[in-house]
Amino acid sequence: MITSRLPGFYKLSLDERRRVAADALGVSIDELEVALEGGGLSVASADKTIENVIGTYALPLALALNVKVNGRDYLVPMAVEEPSVVAAASAAARSVRDGGGFFAVADAPVMIAQIELDQVPEVHEAVRAVMTHERRLRELADAAVPGLVARGGGARHLEMRLLDGSATNAWMVVHVHLDCRDAMGANLANTVAEALAPELERLTGGRVGLRILSNLCDTRRVRAVCRVPPASLVMGERTGEEVRDGIVRASRFAERDPYRAATHNKGIMNGIDPVVIATGNDWRAVEAGAHAWAARTGHYSPLATWSVVGAETRDLSGVLAPPAQHGWLQGKIELPIALGIVGGTLRVHGGAKAALALTGVTSAQELAMLACSVGLASNLAALRALATVGIQEGHMALHARSVASAAGAQESEVERVAAIIHGRGWVTLDAATQALRELRAETDAAE
Ligand code: NAD
Repeated sequence: MITSRLPGFYKLSLDERRRVAADALGVSIDELEVALEGGGLSVASADKTIENVIGTYALPLALALNVKVNGRDYLVPMAVEEPSVVAAASAAARSVRDGGGFFAVADAPVMIAQIELDQVPEVHEAVRAVMTHERRLRELADAAVPGLVARGGGARHLEMRLLDGSATNAWMVVHVHLDCRDAMGANLANTVAEALAPELERLTGGRVGLRILSNLCDTRRVRAVCRVPPASLVMGERTGEEVRDGIVRASRFAERDPYRAATHNKGIMNGIDPVVIATGNDWRAVEAGAHAWAARTGHYSPLATWSVVGAETRDLSGVLAPPAQHGWLQGKIELPIALGIVGGTLRVHGGAKAALALTGVTSAQELAMLACSVGLASNLAALRALATVGIQEGHMALHARSVASAAGAQESEVERVAAIIHGRGWVTLDAATQALRELRAETDAAE
């Protein structure tokens, strides 16, 4: 049984950290290095993946720790360039562990394929015809994706929506709900939309327009909750209750103000996107779905909110979490996430395959619950910092390392230059260049 509680992991050397990852994967360090070589994608493979290729583009790949979802521990691969994201998510997940970890549930992996119909001459007739032939239409859809059907997926349901126009000249759209099992499902949904279009045109008398999936996959939502005892929120002089109340107030701010909600949600996507990218998934699709969901009521809202258990606990339907104790902080998150563990980029990207294997997930739903939980952890980390010392203190300490590196500091110099500029409260390239000059002058004088 794997544990994601690895104190001091950040202090290990790169090779020692790779050893932990290789052990978790059950492979040798050499095999892991081959999988991650060049960012996990050879130029030759890249050239077969997209057009006009001139190279590959790498991002740091790290492991977030302490993440426990539904009682199971995960090592979470995150591909991200922003300092402090991985450390913050791991630290917040550590506090969440004290309250039992994350508890999550995922809807069935159902995507929506849209077929637009214009100039529908008789709305009621069109709806009647489609509903009467729904079973045959589903069979037609399934025939277009036999591989998916063989794996238990396929068309589940059809619905029609009126977009505009009148009863005798309507603009409509048909939604096909397609269970994509362990695939993200965009290509599968597009295939189904195109396969059904001619028959829908014939049945409704309308004219087919666009045929493509919707990235607002609100039939494929994930929900997670976490609880944190106040004792695990203590920061310096501040009591856990003070920190908890600050987080709840910050959540209210995001609920009230879309300007704040956008940044609140960016902090959530700080956790979700790196998992999505590391596992070879389509982050544009996830971003589009998340923000469309956040704006669904017409008021752009936070994807995650925080409250105090007992004061006004808001339950999240379907999540099987044990009862929490009065006074604990409770966070909840809900959003649509379409992720795959087969197909897409995973066919060609060795690094993504290795990262996915590191998670140990066995279904697309499990990966979605994991990504959603890391998003909640990132949100907690950001709100905890914002409600107390401010975001810059922790961020700048870690950012200082990349600034030191950009100033030309070599391996052993990086930590020392970072400590100097952070200590001086002046984390800029100029400051790092000056600190590096001073450090080297000192070293020269000592030799
Ligand atoms: P895909 O085309 O690779 O299809 C998945 C394949 O995996 C199918 O052939 C299916 O039969 C097979 N499969 C094997 N085992 C399976 C299992 N257990 N469950 C389900 N299927 C299984 O990939 P996709 O998921 O249909 O599409 C994802 C790709 O589409 C991504 O690369 C995405 O970037 C891209 N895309 C996205 C959009 C969008 O989001 N708007 C639009 C077009 C394409």
